Order: sequence, then C-alpha cells, then structure tokens
Amino acid sequence: MSKPQGATAVKEELNPFEIAKQQFNRAADYLDLDDSMRAVLSNTKRQLIVSIPVKMDSGHVEVFEGYRVQHNIARGPAKGGIRYHPNVTLDEVKALASWMTWKCATVGIPYGGGKGGVICDPKSLSMSELERLTRRYAFEIAPIIGPDRDIPAPDVYTTEQTMAWIMDTISMVRGHTQLGVVTGKPIALGGSEGRSEATARGCLYALREACRVRGMELSGARVSVHGFGNAGANIARFTAADGARVVAVSDSRCGLYSENGLDVAAALRHKAETGSLMGLPGAKEIASDEVLFVDCDVLLPSALENAITLENVHKVKATIIAELANGPTTPGADRVLADNDVFLVPDILANAGGVTVSYYEWVQDQYSFFWSENRINDTLERSMRAAFQSVYETAQRYHTDMRTGAYILAISRVAEATSVRGIFP
Ligand code: GLU
Repeated sequence: MSKPQGATAVKEELNPFEIAKQQFNRAADYLDLDDSMRAVLSNTKRQLIVSIPVKMDSGHVEVFEGYRVQHNIARGPAKGGIRYHPNVTLDEVKALASWMTWKCATVGIPYGGGKGGVICDPKSLSMSELERLTRRYAFEIAPIIGPDRDIPAPDVYTTEQTMAWIMDTISMVRGHTQLGVVTGKPIALGGSEGRSEATARGCLYALREACRVRGMELSGARVSVHGFGNAGANIARFTAADGARVVAVSDSRCGLYSENGLDVAAALRHKAETGSLMGLPGAKEIASDEVLFVDCDVLLPSALENAITLENVHKVKATIIAELANGPTTPGADRVLADNDVFLVPDILANAGGVTVSYYEWVQDQYSFFWSENRINDTLERSMRAAFQSVYETAQRYHTDMRTGAYILAISRVAEATSVRGIFP
C-alpha cells in the first residue's frame, strides 16, 4: 500500500469524542440532516461523574473516578458496557456511549446508547478490592440505571463476575432481585447462553459476509488479531475453526507471529496458564502493535481505540478489516483505507453481536424464560447477516464506505424516532 504524501506531517484528532462527532457529521452530510437534529443527536443526554472511595487491602482509602454517560434514549433505554482502564476519560466514555447508540440502531435493537468507565488499573487490584470498587461504583450510578433506563454490560477488563456484583448491589438497594439491570451476567444469575462469545461470533458472521462480497474464502485466508481479551481470543478461535490461518495474535504485552499459522488452542492455554501470550513455544515474538502490519488478508483490531491512524495506516497490508474493538481506526486512516480499496466492516456493525445477545439476555430476564444456545446463535446469525446486508446496500446506494453506510442507516433510524417523538416540552 502506498504511503499518502505528507501523511506523517498531518496532525490528527485523536480525542475519541471529537472523532465520534466527525464520523457522525460525515454521514449527516450525506443525509442533509438539519442543524437542530445534528445538535440533538451529536450531544450526550446525561453524564454522571462519581467519586468511588475504596478501602484497599492495606487499610487505606483510595478514591477512584467513575463515569456513566447516556448518549441517547430515543429508541429505548440506554445500553452499553463498563470499562475499567487507567486511560479512561470522560470524552472516551462519551464517544463509547454514542457509538452504542449507532450500534444498536445499525442492528435494529430497541436501545439507545450508554457507557461507563472507572479510571483504575484492574491488574493491580485484588479481587476483594475490585469487588468493593464495583459495588460502590454501582451504588453511585444506581439512580440512573435500571432495566427500563440504562443497562450496563461488560467491556474492557470487566467480566461476568463484575456484572454479578452490580446486579447484587442494585438488587440490595432496591430490596428485590432485579435480573435485567445488567447483561453479560453468569448463567446462574439470569445470564444468557452464548453471551460470552457473542461479540466474536457476531463478528464471524459479518466477516463471512464481507468475504462473500469480496469473493474471498475465509478458509485458507491469513488472519491477524490485535488484542486477546474476550473478543480477540474468541475470534482467533472461530476463524481458525473456519479454516483460516491465524498468523498473528497479540495482547497488551507482546505479539506472536508465525507465517504457517499459530496453534490457537495452544495460545489460549498459554494465556490462561501464564496470564500472557509471552513465551509461547513455536512462535516469533513481535511488538503488540506489529500484528496490525503483518502480511495478512484479514485484520481484526480487537483492543482499544486509535490503533490504526494516519501515521501507521500505510503499513496495513490486509484487504479486509473487521473492527472488534470500538473506535480502532481514525477518520484519517479510514479515508486512506477506502482509497486503497480495503473493505472495512466498522465497529458499530462488526462488534454488535455482543449487545445483540445482551438484548436477548434482557428479554429472557424479563420473561424468566430462557433460550437454548442454538436458538441464540441462530437468531444472532440472522440478525448480523441482515444488518450487514442493510449496511452494504446503504453504502452502495450512497457510493460510500461501510462505516458511513452504517452511520447513515443508524442516524436515519434515530432521527426518525426523535422527530416522531418530538422535543419535550
Ligand atoms: N461493551 C460491549 C460493546 O461495546 C457490549 C455492550 C452491551 O452488551 O451492552 O458493544
């Protein structure tokens, strides 16, 4: 791929919320959306900032800062995960909340968008510190969450256990068990079959469609996966099961590369046993971010925002990219990839399987009637294929890329709901 002239000299916007607004405005231009609707849809509805005092194991008290942002509730309650990470900022949570609005609208599930985050380094906290932090954070955001208001779920460095603590804390506060207050719970607590793998499984379904429209076989394709959390580890497993050659994977500490394909099952075992991918026998160790640039057909960014930027996009060799992470590609990099005819399945479509099965979980919780894993996966597959088709057709109709196609579809759905509801009062 040729390097765009002077690309490294361009100063690029990296604030996630500014990026979210750029993505929104690009699609709003195609729709000729008026200024009033733009103002309503590009701002966040509600932002809560909380202090979380936590008694540490050593006895002293540390105070963490946390956020819960509700971007939009025009089509239903706010929905979106909670992230624990040292680099969390309010603007990042605002961006993630707005991406949830567009994601839910893209796949047509009846939710708005929300997100939460706590600035902390979960790897340095003990289980009991994490539990106290989670319970106090849940208590602080309790006034604005609930099954019909705003439904959190896991995100980066939060798990089923985190959701169990939140569900229990809110149930204690309300005086009765409230299953549908969070999704991504353990099965024993009203969680759904298939939810833990749903983000990656949904991406697999979208990726198969992308391969189909590109006339490429996933079987035999060389795949590189950036990030080895829930989404990255599962997509490595699923693509390998589909016959792809997973040539590279990475976690926050290192990347692994093998031209002939890595043993994904061995990588999963090694990560489970040692906590990292480092030192896996039979693979070449490279820098984490190098997996973005290895020779491959399919690239699956599954870590954090701003992985592919104007500064490094010229090194990307993949011809299909499916974004399991939220916001891994900057708008500048998007334009370069589109110019180079790279087919990019955007985050708000590619990783929407997670929230889609969260929706199934919430529905099951409301009915106290639970579905089989086959039913979940079949329904998810139909939903992802239909959403891919709608986005693809929209992108074709407007002669634009898949991200803009997805935003056009999502914005028109949220704008329609907003205009028929009207502005209160
Ligand atoms: N955190 C996930 C996402 O970014 C899942 C959200 C959910 O299930 O509500 O889509």
